[in-house]
Amino acid sequence: MKVLVAVKRVADPNVKVRVRTDHTDVDLSSVKMTINPFDEIALEAAVRLKEQGLATEVIVVACGLPASQETLRTALAMGADRAILMQTDAQLQPLAVAKLLKVVVDGESPQLILLGKQAIDDDSNQTGQMLAALLDLPQATCASSIELSGLNGERLVVTRETDEGQESVDMTLPAVVTADLRLNEPRYVTLPNLMKAKKKPLRLIAADSIGVDISPRCRTLSVAEPAERKAGELVPDVATLIARLRTESTLI
Ligand code: AMP
Repeated sequence: MKVLVAVKRVADPNVKVRVRTDHTDVDLSSVKMTINPFDEIALEAAVRLKEQGLATEVIVVACGLPASQETLRTALAMGADRAILMQTDAQLQPLAVAKLLKVVVDGESPQLILLGKQAIDDDSNQTGQMLAALLDLPQATCASSIELSGLNGERLVVTRETDEGQESVDMTLPAVVTADLRLNEPRYVTLPNLMKAKKKPLRLIAADSIGVDISPRCRTLSVAEPAERKAGELVPDVATLIARLRTESTLI
């Protein structure tokens, strides 16, 4: 079973990102970049399937700038077998990424397609769903566990985290699954594995030359810092708290 994992290069979540002075976007120059954390979890799930002898090959795919090669090398060091970069300088929105990933899926025919539930930079939570729709495949989003079933592992049982609790869905493969936080804890990348990853295959495809319309559908009007939170205040007792809530809050 081939597993394909989509990995996005995003700003490190521990770094404070600033808005550009012209409010057109955030300023990513000289910001440390990393694999989107949910994609690391998706990749860990794929590598574990391979280690259990249930997957034969793990392919990682990124869409975007040439610098995404670095992200793919880290993914290879985590245990992926080969990598593909759909390279473009264009600003990619989820539909464009889904279309590019579809081209790779059509060419590779993986049984399982794993993505993160969302990219932490745009927080769109759309690409997996759009990809499943374009491919006309079953999908399970926000997976907290995945288990192959059926005599030859041709089905998948996915536990999903929903607002109401956990939901288990049984689906046929091939399928698209997006990973949530509790699916696993990804392994650390070691230096020897980073060295080995340099020798693994990484294929570059010019995304602008494969006849896919990746033009944006939405235009960003303006980007602004979130409003600063006011400092909290300590009140002496519950009675004061309730009195203050009555006079100052819209909640009561
Ligand atoms: P989003 O819909 O933007 O929140 O992203 C959801 C998931 O789609 C991410 O966690 C990635 O697995 C995948 N994805 C989004 N953008 C890219 C990209 N440029 N390259 C590869 N995968 C991506």
